[in-house]
Amino acid sequence: MTQLEAARKGRITEAMAYVAEREGKHPEEIRALVAAGRAVIPANPNHRTLTRFTAIGEGLTVKVNANIGTSYDYIRPEEEVEKVKVAIRYGADTVMDLSTGGDLPAIRQRILEVASVPLGTVPIYEAEFRAAARKSVFDMSADELLEVIEAHGQQGVDYITVHAGVTQKALERYRNAPRTTGIVSRGGGLLAAWMLERGEENPLYARFDDLLDIARTYDMTLSLGDGLRPGSLADATDRPQIEELLTLGELADRARAAGVQVMIEGPGHIPLNEIQTNVEIQKKLTGHAPFYILGMLPTDTAAGFDHIAGAIGGALAGWHGADMLCYVTPAEHLGLPSVEHVKEGVVAFKIAAHIADLARGNPAAWVRDQRMSQARYRLDWSAQFELALFPEDAKRIYRERATQTKACSMCGPFCPMNLVEAVLRREERPLEAKEA
Ligand code: SF4
Repeated sequence: MTQLEAARKGRITEAMAYVAEREGKHPEEIRALVAAGRAVIPANPNHRTLTRFTAIGEGLTVKVNANIGTSYDYIRPEEEVEKVKVAIRYGADTVMDLSTGGDLPAIRQRILEVASVPLGTVPIYEAEFRAAARKSVFDMSADELLEVIEAHGQQGVDYITVHAGVTQKALERYRNAPRTTGIVSRGGGLLAAWMLERGEENPLYARFDDLLDIARTYDMTLSLGDGLRPGSLADATDRPQIEELLTLGELADRARAAGVQVMIEGPGHIPLNEIQTNVEIQKKLTGHAPFYILGMLPTDTAAGFDHIAGAIGGALAGWHGADMLCYVTPAEHLGLPSVEHVKEGVVAFKIAAHIADLARGNPAAWVRDQRMSQARYRLDWSAQFELALFPEDAKRIYRERATQTKACSMCGPFCPMNLVEAVLRREERPLEAKEA
C-alpha cells in the first residue's frame, strides 16, 4: 500500500509519524496533506537504509535535493558516494543519482547503501544508454524503458523523474516557438530526439497506466519532469513550457486517482519577476501538487557562482510556494561538480530554504532566528554555534579570526553589543584607559 492509499484509508504510517515530529505538526495534519495529494513522502519499502523520512509539500519546511552521479567521461563511483555523504551531512533532504557512466545498477546500489534520505533517479538515462551501447539511443523500446523503471523500484529507489509531458503535441508547439536554447533537459532531450526520429508518442505518456502500476507496486513517487523547461531567461514561461505543464497537471490527476504519489518538476531559468507567476500557475494547474524546482536561476550569466544565483531564485520561489529546491553547484553549466562543489551547493540552498521558511511564517524557523539574535546580543558564542545552520564552519571562522576581547575581531573593544550594555549597567568601560 502506498503512503497515499494509507492516508486515504485514514492510516498514519511510521513515515507520517516521523515527518510530523520533524515538522512540528500533528500526524493527522500530515496524513491529510498526503491524502489530498498536497504532500508526498517518497519512501520505497525496498530502500532499507532510508531512516530520515521526508515529506515534501504545502505548509511544510522547504526541502533541498542534491544531484550527484557519474558522467560519460568521469566515472569514479566512490567519489559519488562521498558526495552523497557530504550532501547529507550539510542537510540535503533527498539525493538524486543522475549517473550516466559506468555500471549504473552497481553505482546505484552503492549510493542506496549510504543514502539515509530518499533517493531519486531518472530511469530514461539507463534505458537510453543501454540502447546506445547495443546499437543507438533510437533503438530503445517502451518495454525496455518500463523494465528499467521496474528494476529501479525493486532496488529501492524512492522517486523517479519521468518526462511524461513531452508529448508530440508539446513538440509541435516547441517547433513553432522561437526559442534561444531549445531543449536543455537531458532526459527531455533524449526523449524528444527518440520521438522525432521514430515518429512515435512518448512511451512514458502512451504507457502511463503501466508506469502507474509499477510506481504503485513499489510506492515510487512520480516526479513529473519538465523536459521542456526554459534554459535561458529569453525562453522563460513560453508556450512549450506551459503546454507541458497542462499535460503534467492531467497526469498528476491520473496518478493520484491510481493511488500513486506525485510531484511536479519546474524550471529552470526564470527572471526574478516571473518566479511568483510560475509557482502560482503550477499550483493552480496541478491541483496543488508539491512543486520541485530546479533552481530557479534568475540570471544566465553567473557561471562559476550559479549556486548563489540559484539560491536567490530558490528563496523567492520557496516563499511563493515551491516545496523542494534542487540545488545548483558552482560547477553548473561548466562541468561535473566536485565534492567541494556539492557542499557549496547544498549550503547555498539550505540557506535559501531557511529564508523561504521564515517568509512562509514557519514558527520553528522564527524561534531559531530569534534565539540566534538573543545569543548574538549576549555574545554567547557557544549558543550561536549551536543555532547556526552550519556550526562547524561558523566555529572555524570565529577561531581563525580570534580576538582577546569577549566580542569578535570585527569591532573588538568597540563592539556595540558589549559597549552599550556595559554603559547601561555602569560596569567597567572597555574603552577607558585603566589607571596604572
Ligand atoms: S565585535 Fe562587531 S561584529 Fe563582532 S559581535 Fe560585536 S558587533 Fe558583532
